[in-house]
Amino acid sequence: MKTEVLIIGQGISGTWLSYYLEKSGIDHFVIDQENPHTASRQAGGLINPVTGRNKVKTWLADQLLPFCRTAYVEMGACLEVAVIESKPIIECFGNPEAAALFSRRVSENPNYLEIPSHSPIQLDLFHNCHEVGLIRPAYLVNVQSLLSSWRNRLRALEKIGAYNFDVHQLKETNTGFTYKDITCNRVIFCDGARIQERQISSTIPLAPTKGEALILKIPDLPPSFVYKNKLTLLPLSSPGYWWAGSSYEWSFDHANPTSSFKEQTVSALEKWLAIPFEVVEQRAAIRMGTMERRPLVGFDSPEKKMGSTQWIGYQRLFASPLLCPSVSRKFSKGNRH
Ligand SMILES: Cc1cc2nc3c(=O)[nH]c(=O)nc-3n(C[C@H](O)[C@H](O)[C@H](O)COP(=O)(O)OP(=O)(O)OC[C@H]3O[C@@H](n4cnc5c(N)ncnc54)[C@H](O)[C@@H]3O)c2cc1C
Repeated sequence: MKTEVLIIGQGISGTWLSYYLEKSGIDHFVIDQENPHTASRQAGGLINPVTGRNKVKTWLADQLLPFCRTAYVEMGACLEVAVIESKPIIECFGNPEAAALFSRRVSENPNYLEIPSHSPIQLDLFHNCHEVGLIRPAYLVNVQSLLSSWRNRLRALEKIGAYNFDVHQLKETNTGFTYKDITCNRVIFCDGARIQERQISSTIPLAPTKGEALILKIPDLPPSFVYKNKLTLLPLSSPGYWWAGSSYEWSFDHANPTSSFKEQTVSALEKWLAIPFEVVEQRAAIRMGTMERRPLVGFDSPEKKMGSTQWIGYQRLFASPLLCPSVSRKFSKGNRH
């Protein structure tokens, strides 16, 4: 089989690349081994315009928020599924200091932050919630639905192979590459945490972190908002189901869910929620980041035959590195593997 571009990985990064190649009429083939325990398949999918305790504006938020919204709406229309929803974030203040800090930030970021005069929710849903702040616009991306719908489309077009890609079997030719029976001009790795298995990683300051989350049933929590204190509660598409997360662990022995995360999160939820909840599932994955905490895209040789993207969910922004040339980083020359 001959194709222009071979994409390795169909997480959010490979899906965007495949979508934009299709839009541009560029023939491509995707190899993804369909592992459910990867970052895109475990992520909350929140696009938040501010980040951290100090509510600093997310990197390039003014440009990327409207861009992401339009792009996800277009993808959803193409796939006939709802991919993105506007979902304001409610932050519950347990003490006057937290409320005062938020209100100082409102004056810096009035486009994204507000202290509403009347709370849009019943405060007694939560213990010790005296006042709320509102973060908007914020969006929730249904990543699972997007990835599986795009995968179905690729499958129908016979443009995806569901198997492990073994980089040692990739052979360079005068015009491009061969991989088993595939001949292509370019290879783009969108392989998430598995970038570490390739030697190219030595040229990028990689910073993997583990994230854990719980899936909960909270039938009485209104799903029109995302709720935040130290944890984030995101409504899932099945009514009454919620995603609670996530941890940000720099040091870890394995990528599996842990009982300690579950215990700590349940204890935090018991202190926070004044309504019943039930844990139905535990999730975990490694997110690949860089020390710079920026999305990254680049070719690793001047001939531009092989490249990588790393989709950094930094500051919770599902934005495409592929469309942000200003963030592209050229990998060092001569490190093509
Ligand atoms: C718990 C958790 C919560 C998160 N929440 C958010 C959030 O709310 N908002 C946000 O913006 N970000 C969030 N993130 C971060 C975000 O999920 C990641 O930044 C993003 O999903 C990375 O996407 P990716 O496509 O680069 O990599 P991945 O999702 O890891 O995709 C890589 C794909 O490549 C495949 N692959 C790799 N190597 C091979 C191979 N050799 N052969 C075949 N297939 C291969 C894998 O199976 C996988 O399907 C979260 C992360 C975690 C872990």
